[in-house]
Amino acid sequence: MKIIDGHAHIGYIGGWANVGINEEELIAQMDRYGIEKTALCTEDNEVTCGVMRRNPGRIIGCVYVNPLNPATVDAMEDYFARGFTAVKLNPLRHGYCADSEMLDPILEKAEKYNVPVCIHSGHPPYSLPWQIGLLAERHPNVKIMMIHMGHGHGVYIDAAIKMARRYPNLYLEMSGMPMPGKIKEAYETVGADRVMFGTDTPFHHPTVEIQKVLTCGLAEEALGDIFYGNAARFFRL
Ligand SMILES: [Zn+2]
Repeated sequence: MKIIDGHAHIGYIGGWANVGINEEELIAQMDRYGIEKTALCTEDNEVTCGVMRRNPGRIIGCVYVNPLNPATVDAMEDYFARGFTAVKLNPLRHGYCADSEMLDPILEKAEKYNVPVCIHSGHPPYSLPWQIGLLAERHPNVKIMMIHMGHGHGVYIDAAIKMARRYPNLYLEMSGMPMPGKIKEAYETVGADRVMFGTDTPFHHPTVEIQKVLTCGLAEEALGDIFYGNAARFFRL
């Protein structure tokens, strides 16, 4: 089964997380678990740029933007020109609400350059599925990936599916989300093209994340959509 990892990080993430992975380890992990390409981000976009350059065809560059740091918003076009093909937002990490109007200039640039936006979900008061739904509602022409599809809380996972059913530009990524059955539910009730695989490396491990998809109860062809086809379309490969 071919695999695209829809969401991963590189580098050391300190503080409460205390996890990390370097470039060699990431590529070795991708090779070991049959991951053809990884959508990668880190807060220093230059680091991501280097990994992209040294591993051609393996990395989908996600430019990390913080609306509270306007320089990162100003730099978006520059990174698009240098091969980045997605935007990464993390309201929890940077401390803003996902439905804030502060995000509008970022989403407007994403629309202008036809680039999808990936946004962390699952933590109050910043990144709840309903807030991401409001963001998707204001920007119907931007494809938005709700990373973690609600994350660890059953009520948020349910809300992620409900929001994606409501807004056709909302896509779900399943890393860190513990309920395999919800992958099947999303595939069947949101849309066969709108749920995709991710690892959230180094927070989670590919073996665990792969098992969640394999045990979700869907047939082989559907698994192919989740592991590969949907991300390929979302990231316009
Ligand atoms: Zn992540």
